[in-house]
Amino acid sequence: MANVGAGIALIVFGFMMAVFGAVTYSSCRSAPTLNGVAPDCGGFGLVTELGIALGVIGVVVTVILALLQRTSHRRTPFIQQVPDPSLPPPIIPPVVTPQAVEKEVVQVRCSFCGNLFDGTAKACPWCGAPFG
Ligand SMILES: [Zn+2]
Repeated sequence: MANVGAGIALIVFGFMMAVFGAVTYSSCRSAPTLNGVAPDCGGFGLVTELGIALGVIGVVVTVILALLQRTSHRRTPFIQQVPDPSLPPPIIPPVVTPQAVEKEVVQVRCSFCGNLFDGTAKACPWCGAPFG
C-alpha cells in the first residue's frame, strides 16, 4: 500500500528549506552595510529554490500516491465496507457543537405570562402576546 505520508514529509521538508533560505536571505539583506558595500547574500537562490523544488516534488508524489490509493480502493469496494471483527471499532471523533451560537440566543421573559422564550420571536410562543 502506498504511503501518502512520504509525499507530505517531502512537502514539509521542502517548505522548511524554502522558509530557511528566505529567512536567511532577508536577515542578511537587513544587516548593516560594511563600508558602503552590501553583504553577500548569494545563498538565497540555492537553498530556497531547492526547497521549493522539493515541495513541488512532494506535491506531485502525494497526488500520485493519493490517486493510486483511490484506484486500489475502487477495485475492492466490498472488502473496504465490511468491518473486520478482529479490529477495534473506528474511533469517531466527538462532534463539537458550537457553544457560542447557543449563548448568542437571548432569552427574554414574557411580560404577560412570565415564560422564557427566544428574543428573536415576534410573539410569545406560550401565550401569543406580541413582543418587540
Ligand atoms: Zn407570554
